[in-house]
Parts: sequence; structure tokens; C-alpha cells
Amino acid sequence: MASSDYRLCDVCDGKVFYDSNLNYENGISTWNTNPPFRITGEEQFNDPEILHKAGTRLDSLGDWAVICTECAKTHKTIVEPIGSAKTTKLIIEECLQITLDYKNDDHYNGWMDFRDEIRKHFGIED
Ligand SMILES: [Zn+2]
Repeated sequence: MASSDYRLCDVCDGKVFYDSNLNYENGISTWNTNPPFRITGEEQFNDPEILHKAGTRLDSLGDWAVICTECAKTHKTIVEPIGSAKTTKLIIEECLQITLDYKNDDHYNGWMDFRDEIRKHFGIED
């Protein structure tokens, strides 16, 4: 079977599951040109012809990401409000810049511990 009959892994493009039996909406209609519909957080295609050819509308699905079992060992999907990734990036950038005037060991070390927890939480290596 052609790989196009499969939903592919969003990390490695390997086959994940057979999707030709899913009820993709084919053809151009209000239904399948009405956003949002995203794959892995990317913006919807704006070209109706691409939508027609790709048959990318699937019931009420608004966005999805798929990861194969091998890539799931090193990657994960995250569902978050739109815009929160930008906010998170700003928080990380600010926390990485934390340098404080020395007041005493406890004060200074507390802030450094906080910074290290932020780094650890977001998987930032030194
Ligand atoms: Zn994969």
C-alpha cells in the first residue's frame, strides 16, 4: 500500500496507522474550507485546491499530531492554548537572564535555585 494511505509520524514521516478508512471530507465545500484545521499546529492551507487534493478535513477535527512508537520514546505531543508557547519562551528568556545583586547567601541561592528549576522544567541544558 502507498504511504499516502497512512497517517505518517510528524517526527520521522514513518507510517503510524492506516487512515484510508477515515471519513475525510473530499472536495471543496464550506465545511472543509472553514478554518481552523491544522496538522501538527501548522496553519491551515489557504488554497482550496490544495484542500481539495489533500482531502484534509476530518469531521470536527481541528488539529492533530501523531508520533510513532519509536519517536514517542524521545518526543511527545503538547496541547496548549494558542499563544502560550510565545509566553513560555519570554518567561524562559527572562529567567535565563536572572542575575541579582548580592544581599546574602540565602537570597542569592534562592533565586539561583528558582532559575535552575525553570531550566530543569523546560529541559534547558547549561
Ligand atoms: Zn516517528
